Amino acid sequence: MYIQEITIDIKSNADKDELIDEFGLLMSFYRGSGQTLGRIESHYIENNKIVCLPFTLEKNSLEKKFNNFYVNRQSEKIEKLCNSKLTFKTVGKSYDSYKTPCKCKKSDFYILITNYITIQSPLICGTCNKSVPLYRLPQFYDYGYMPILSWETNYISCDRLQMNCEVGERWALMGVISKVATYFCAKWPHVSLQSIHFVSAETVHLADLKMF
Ligand SMILES: [Zn+2]
Repeated sequence: MYIQEITIDIKSNADKDELIDEFGLLMSFYRGSGQTLGRIESHYIENNKIVCLPFTLEKNSLEKKFNNFYVNRQSEKIEKLCNSKLTFKTVGKSYDSYKTPCKCKKSDFYILITNYITIQSPLICGTCNKSVPLYRLPQFYDYGYMPILSWETNYISCDRLQMNCEVGERWALMGVISKVATYFCAKWPHVSLQSIHFVSAETVHLADLKMF
């Protein structure tokens, strides 16, 4: 995984808040085209220059040949607003254990996979088991990969919830308590569902069932 630097000099009197918003939009289009990775954009303004340091899977991920319609259109817009040209530079390669990307000429199949901490591509090559940049796939409708990117964000949300499992535990416990309570309610009609909910939300422990 590579760290790139995208910069543009501000040589116009355009409003800087507007410029930073338009630049952020460009970065989101890069994300939609599969060229950049990660979940948070790092763009900032320093000395009349906008700078951003996105992650990419390949060294050449930001080459124009991978741009989609929206990246090209937004690049033109920001260059016009700033009255200067975007510049690109590879500033480094991540140190940690990210694998090199897939180099297969043809993959047998692809696997959709992600988790709550990774920023790698959600696509794995079925032949070499390495990450595949989304721009290798044919473009979906509207020049993007939204079905895959939506799947990725949904899956990450579920995985994060599962890992921070207190909420999930409460749901599971609520199910158990409801089942136990349903059994006892038939025998003890004075126990109300409202009191069951109170026990599960406030005390969590099954032992506290004796309270109602
Ligand atoms: Zn491969």
